Amino acid sequence: MSYPVNKAAFIDRDGTLIEEVNFLSRLEDLQIFPFTLKALTVLRENGFKIHVVTNQSGIGRGIYTEQDMHAIHQQMTADLPGLIDSFHFCPHLPDAGCRCRKPNTGMIDEASAGYTLDRQNSWMIGDKYLDVETGKNAGIRSALVRTGYGERTADTDHGADVTGRNLLEAVEMIVGETVKPPLSAAVSQAEGEQ
Ligand SMILES: [Mg+2]
Ligand SMILES: [Zn+2]
Repeated sequence: MSYPVNKAAFIDRDGTLIEEVNFLSRLEDLQIFPFTLKALTVLRENGFKIHVVTNQSGIGRGIYTEQDMHAIHQQMTADLPGLIDSFHFCPHLPDAGCRCRKPNTGMIDEASAGYTLDRQNSWMIGDKYLDVETGKNAGIRSALVRTGYGERTADTDHGADVTGRNLLEAVEMIVGETVKPPLSAAVSQAEGEQ
């Protein structure tokens, strides 16, 4: 049995796709960034699978329930139709020692379980160093955005492969790198135009 090979964008939720709200649980506090729809559309048009990977320790802390979180994700699915392949969340406390909490790679493994991940062309995108680290730990590339917590750490890129002002700018840089034809194809195309 062979699995299809896919490239994927694993995207953090809070501060990356939506406004950072400490322990977001109420639907009325959900604010999808104005550039998110376009950014995900560009990823989709360029053949990326799109998975949301989010640490939600507020569940483990008893601040909100898993059902509260699912309601947020349902609303995001409705507002970003056909763009998100799956949501993955870690409900555990930071010291629980689970495999899913970023910077561990459990959510990336779970999201890509149905296909062979093209790691060279796959990205972890987020607003924290923890997201960059997750990408490194998974052997994929990483992009940092300057929204959410990324606004507060503008002095460092945390060693990310790409840094964008926001998700859309990061995606445009990612796609620019990804769709470059191999050098030989670029040369023959240039020659054909002469
Ligand atoms: Mg975040
Ligand atoms: Zn976990």
